[in-house]
Amino acid sequence: MCGRPPGSAGNRQTVAVTEKIGIVGAGIVGLAVARELATVRGAEVTVLEKESRVAAHQTGHNSGVVHAGIYYPPGSLKARLCREGVALLKDYCARHALPYEEVGKLVVASTRAERPLLKALAERARANGVPGVAELDALGLREIEPHAVGVGAVHSPHTAITDFPAIARRLALDVEEQGGSVRLEHPVRAIRETASGVEVIAGRRRFAFDRLVVCAGLGTDAVAAMTGRRGDLRIVPFRGEYYELAGPARDLVRGLIYPVPDPRYPFLGVHLTRHIDGEVLVGPNAVLALAYEGYRRRDVRDLRRIVGWPGTVRMAGRHWRTGLKEIYGSLAKRAFLKAARRYVPELTAEDLRRTEGGVRAQAVSRDGRLVDDFAVDMDGRVVLVRNAPSPAATSSLAIARHIAALVPALVR
Ligand SMILES: Cc1cc2nc3c(=O)[nH]c(=O)nc-3n(C[C@H](O)[C@H](O)[C@H](O)COP(=O)(O)OP(=O)(O)OC[C@H]3O[C@@H](n4cnc5c(N)ncnc54)[C@H](O)[C@@H]3O)c2cc1C
Repeated sequence: MCGRPPGSAGNRQTVAVTEKIGIVGAGIVGLAVARELATVRGAEVTVLEKESRVAAHQTGHNSGVVHAGIYYPPGSLKARLCREGVALLKDYCARHALPYEEVGKLVVASTRAERPLLKALAERARANGVPGVAELDALGLREIEPHAVGVGAVHSPHTAITDFPAIARRLALDVEEQGGSVRLEHPVRAIRETASGVEVIAGRRRFAFDRLVVCAGLGTDAVAAMTGRRGDLRIVPFRGEYYELAGPARDLVRGLIYPVPDPRYPFLGVHLTRHIDGEVLVGPNAVLALAYEGYRRRDVRDLRRIVGWPGTVRMAGRHWRTGLKEIYGSLAKRAFLKAARRYVPELTAEDLRRTEGGVRAQAVSRDGRLVDDFAVDMDGRVVLVRNAPSPAATSSLAIARHIAALVPALVR
């Protein structure tokens, strides 16, 4: 029993008790939620993860950028939780000696036509409270990135890079230090909600929880189906492929160089990002994958489920031009080179080396809309994170607070 003071509901005396909370998924979101519930709520938490390590999927396959909050519509969950998340993450990294480097970001307009979009982006960044945002001309941007070209740029000096898998590992340690457990190789196979709790079969074991929080990334739909809450969104996987810069070409990029994003699309376009280990990544593109964990082009395991969702077909109809461009970019190295040379013209084909990519879990509605904001459902004893795309790694500690506040404390 935890030492919470007794409360009352109507005339009946109620007592707060130690809650047993199960969390599905040991990505950065699931682990941050587990840590928050264990440390702040005193809950007894068990994280169930199907893989043999934490951060095996999106958390371990991303650009490693701590986004400052430039892009998101003011008032959206993304805008608020990104700003809060940056502050929490920076502090967390400092306390645990985890890498966090404010290398700064340039969003570069390469044509005059992009200038109004750039201006709107700077205004949005200021509205979101992003500190230090400056609008630069062609010369100004070269002072920040001497090898970059463009007609103008927005500079965000506090945009940072970090090591999200290392943060996830530290969060898992926090959970264990609070008496919780992270059970690897425990794929969740069945879920049953009863009058008094939630029963979960994971691996070969049966668990009984008071509540369950699902942070399953690419596995969201499968786990949602086990709870009987299919809902009206489905995860559509988008592969993000990367190249890395070889040898001295790495010195052509100091920090982060991004294109002006297409406002109709939640992805940011191929960018150049310095990684915490010194590598410079070029990517990711965004190609519709035909398997949830479709890291390779030939992975087509989940074709029927993905294409069977009416939203996928409607989305493809709406974005077919961009889709074809992305497929071409996936097949042809020269398309990647062209995208990178638009901002750093000194790059050559020899400078680009293919490297490991990631797969994004992007929610798509029945009418084919790519859901832009974070989405969390709470129904009965189950909380389902339905959409946690970028910048969810940046925002993870704030998402965890948001979810903990949604889950009412259990009283008996
Ligand atoms: C290419 C790419 C670039 C990105 N760049 C950035 C960036 O620079 N900055 C940023 O902030 N964000 C970025 N993101 C987004 C970010 O990585 C994700 O938003 C974040 O990692 C989501 O974390 P998660 O815990 O929800 O998901 P995940 O890390 O995918 O974790 C979900 C976990 O659930 C587990 N799971 C699924 N089903 C089951 C089951 N049945 N039983 C048990 N376990 C299960 C999976 O194995 C997995 O470990 C990027 C993403 C990608 C793919």
